[in-house]
Amino acid sequence: MKAFTYDRADSVVRAAAASARSGAKVIAGGTNLLDLMKLQVETPTQLIDINRLPLDKIEDTAEGGLRIGATVRNSDLAADRRVRERYGVLSRALLAGASAQLRNRATTGGNLLQRTRCSYFYDVTKPCNKRNPGSGCAALGGFNRIHAVLGASDQCIAANPSDMAVALRALDANVETVNAEGEGRVIPIAEFHRLPGTTPEIDTTLKAGEIITAVTLPPPPPGVQIYRKVRDRASYAFALVSVAAIVELSVGGIRSARLVFGGLAPKPWRVPQAEERLAGASADAKTFDAVATAVLDGARGYGSNDFKIPLTRRILRAVLMEAART
Ligand code: SF4
Repeated sequence: MKAFTYDRADSVVRAAAASARSGAKVIAGGTNLLDLMKLQVETPTQLIDINRLPLDKIEDTAEGGLRIGATVRNSDLAADRRVRERYGVLSRALLAGASAQLRNRATTGGNLLQRTRCSYFYDVTKPCNKRNPGSGCAALGGFNRIHAVLGASDQCIAANPSDMAVALRALDANVETVNAEGEGRVIPIAEFHRLPGTTPEIDTTLKAGEIITAVTLPPPPPGVQIYRKVRDRASYAFALVSVAAIVELSVGGIRSARLVFGGLAPKPWRVPQAEERLAGASADAKTFDAVATAVLDGARGYGSNDFKIPLTRRILRAVLMEAART
């Protein structure tokens, strides 16, 4: 690990201003950043610790939703009674992510900012456009079992690793930020993560000198909430494919549905046309297959991850059948 200075932030605006400096990095739980530093994928010269800022509360909003501070730990968020009772998809997604020890440290803001788990990104001896722009992408012709089949580019095929972000996308969350001038901004979660295109080194739409202060949830939508994750082992593994579903049933069919996929793309993947196909449709295999076809429009595998395409079809069908039974 390379030498760095350590500063404890005493205000949100000062933390934002300090983070704008070249070589500076904000640290909260550090569950991803410290690994990256040990491997010299990240080599910050200054760490700005935001753990003592007053960003660790979960509060009711006037609109009937929740405001989750950026440093609320994943375990506290998953266990919060309001989250368990009204936002079950979020609680289950959090509990499906990482290990208990990691969830005790990992924060809401850090979860959104975690980097891909592409093994070539973590290996500084391999070409990787996300770590070293212009160097190439070792995953394209390499082992790409966990990589994206949707939304990728010829520069990068990494998938977003977050479970929490998949649930937040289904709940239409917003990300609140503050910049070095003290100005606030609200970023819809749909616009927070970005596709790689020709600049895969940029994961999000967060600007330099802007830090996450909270995530807000609107009131929960009607319907049964499900989070299903398929992974290589039962404990502590990133999603091969995951689904966050919120399905509202009507007599003999489906009134409305929200479907968001993890493990498939560089960002939580939501396809409005697929949800439109479900609205007012009968809950049967023909409908579910048509919806899967809409979700997978444009999907392509890169060898080791070809299995994700039929797996998505199966997991979607299983989740919709589970929703229809409730
Ligand atoms: Fe790097 Fe992306 Fe290629 Fe992985 S998929 S090696 S993160 S450029």
